[in-house]
Amino acid sequence: MAIKKVLIANRGEIAVRIARACKELGIRSVAVYSEADQYSLHVKKADESYQISKDPLSGYLNPHHLVNLAVETGCDALHPGYGFLSENAELAAICQQRGVTFIGPSAEAISAMGDKTQARQTAIAAGVPVTPGSEGNLDDVEDAVRQAEDVGYPVMLKATSGGGGRGIRRCDNEKELRQNYERVISEATKAFGSAEVFLEKCIIEPRHIEVQVLADHHGNVVHLYERDCSIQRRNQKLIEVAPSPQLSEEQRETIGELAIQVTRQCGYVNAGTVEFLLDHDDSFYFMEMNTRVQVEHTITEEITGIDIIKAQIRIASGEPLEFSQDDISYRGFAAQFRINAEDPKNGFLPSFGRISRYYSAGGPGVRTDAAMYTGYEIPPYYDSMCAKLIVWAREWPELVARSRRALSDMAIYGVHTTIPYYQQILNHPDFQTGTFNTGFVERNPQLLEYSDKSRPESIATAVAAAIAAQAGL
Ligand code: ADP
Ligand code: ADP
Ligand code: MG
Repeated sequence: MAIKKVLIANRGEIAVRIARACKELGIRSVAVYSEADQYSLHVKKADESYQISKDPLSGYLNPHHLVNLAVETGCDALHPGYGFLSENAELAAICQQRGVTFIGPSAEAISAMGDKTQARQTAIAAGVPVTPGSEGNLDDVEDAVRQAEDVGYPVMLKATSGGGGRGIRRCDNEKELRQNYERVISEATKAFGSAEVFLEKCIIEPRHIEVQVLADHHGNVVHLYERDCSIQRRNQKLIEVAPSPQLSEEQRETIGELAIQVTRQCGYVNAGTVEFLLDHDDSFYFMEMNTRVQVEHTITEEITGIDIIKAQIRIASGEPLEFSQDDISYRGFAAQFRINAEDPKNGFLPSFGRISRYYSAGGPGVRTDAAMYTGYEIPPYYDSMCAKLIVWAREWPELVARSRRALSDMAIYGVHTTIPYYQQILNHPDFQTGTFNTGFVERNPQLLEYSDKSRPESIATAVAAAIAAQAGL
């Protein structure tokens, strides 16, 4: 292995995940943290750690500072994780200038695919169908209205550099388009530092199917099959499964090929994800490419047995892929539940605070990727996802039963989480039969009407009462 020491330019569970991969490869790792994160688990999982800012965000978002620290601490590589600067071409470029290997694609590939309108052009050039939409970015609201007429309502107005499900609005008619136009621009400017927007035809209740790809520096490109991320709320993924229970083998092969075509077209190297929408008539439309490791990479690891973070490090080291497409197979089904510190019954409002007790799930086919522990205080400055529960089983019905069991094993007291809501989803016939699309959450508001007995404060009270009773208090 050419790489000897990695700076992990991220926090939380993904930083822990990267530190674990480094450890298995015999590579040293360096963690960075803000003052608010001084007690975060990733700080302890790396071999060395350094505070990079007093405030919660500036350190994680300063590419020069991060690369300087990598050089000062003798790191020969940097892993950006997801979110923060992971899709920031400048960070990749600075790494290259300073002789630090960026564990990800080139700055050119990040800029080309991070811009959604440019990515659409790349897909078109590769002969891959894209959702019908505007030609490039919109000039002004009148241009938007004109192009929406051509495409036909409803349309999706989208921020060109958007991500994380933000900067997207559905517009059912001209009036809504006019109302949303300035809103999306202001959202995009605030969240992504770019005012550029475009529009696409809105596909009604599609399925979100994405393909994991790996490409090395020697021209080899493979896919690791697909993930179905259709269980979403407000365009944000909640539960992901792999492979999709809704694809035929033929569709699976087709979408894998399409993803490889897009990857080759942009000269992409390292791990990436090509996202598609699947319409009711079974057409696939390219949506975007994520030029980084994804939150849900774990389920692909479970079904293929390939460690994606290690593959990223090996590719960045210049090694050729250890497998060809024919060597890659998948087994069983896997699901990932994003355990968010949120209160589903209260509009999914973030529920930050101290975790008074935490028991992780275990048993066959269960994996937890988390960065928390009993006594940990979830800081209010970051994403509300505090753990990922990943479940594997041979068959779909077993996956559903095992997921239910694992979610009931997992206990987080002190904050609200999405766990009881996921139990409700698992009880729904559409999930049990593996037939769902992106309209599932909105179509089923009754799933939020679960009993208050499963809420954390009542469990914590019950546990405290049981302990007190045992102790004869
Ligand atoms: P995935 O595509 O891996 O499922 P998400 O969309 O859930 O990832 O995003 C993971 C994290 O990265 C979230 O914290 C999200 O807010 C952040 N993120 C994703 N894309 C962007 C972006 N373009 N700009 C800023 N943050 C982003
Ligand atoms: P992000 O960069 O935030 O991940 P995406 O372009 O991947 O944004 O879209 C996020 C989600 O929004 C999709 O998974 C899908 O549910 C919904 N979506 C996006 N574009 C469309 C569309 N044209 N029609 C219907 N749904 C869409
Ligand atoms: Mg996306």
